[in-house]
Amino acid sequence: MTSDVTTTSVPERLAKNRFVLDEEESHIEIDQEVCRATGTAARIIAVCPAGVYSEQDGQVVADYAACLECGTCLAVAAPGALRWRYPRGGFGVSFREG
Ligand code: SF4
Repeated sequence: MTSDVTTTSVPERLAKNRFVLDEEESHIEIDQEVCRATGTAARIIAVCPAGVYSEQDGQVVADYAACLECGTCLAVAAPGALRWRYPRGGFGVSFREG
């Protein structure tokens, strides 16, 4: 039996999305102290499908330009660790496929 289904890798699919970056305002703010004290840092770094979060010089940073607006980080963050909201109108991700 043959299949005509083509496979596309996750990076290939993500590359089809369009991002409009709000250079004046990040839609993600991190409370460093709460993030670390609650173990949120490790969780959000592990679960974010876009690799938005990383650690640099002992701080958790968010490269919010790549955010897919899925909300997964909010689901695993302790209360007060993140302030996340949708980007302002006209900014953020536009999905091209799926
Ligand atoms: S909303 Fe999704 S893509 Fe955006 S930072 Fe959170 S986990 Fe990552």
